[in-house]
Amino acid sequence: MPYYEIYLTDTDKDGDLEVHKSDCRLTSGKIPFRTIGYHLNCQKAIEYVKTIYIGKTIDGCKICIPECHKR
Ligand SMILES: [Zn+2]
Repeated sequence: MPYYEIYLTDTDKDGDLEVHKSDCRLTSGKIPFRTIGYHLNCQKAIEYVKTIYIGKTIDGCKICIPECHKR
């Protein structure tokens, strides 16, 4: 099961959150905004994040979880 982390996006609007796997090459060396632990897949990880940050725009990384990247 992959381990997921959340990062604040710097390219999108303020406060948008992006979900990554912990081994994503885009975020290597960066400090995560928050870690969210192990989830079965990215859909489950994003569902979980939506229960914490209600009303926020949440997207998946286009590199490490392209199947959950919407924008
Ligand atoms: Zn990523």
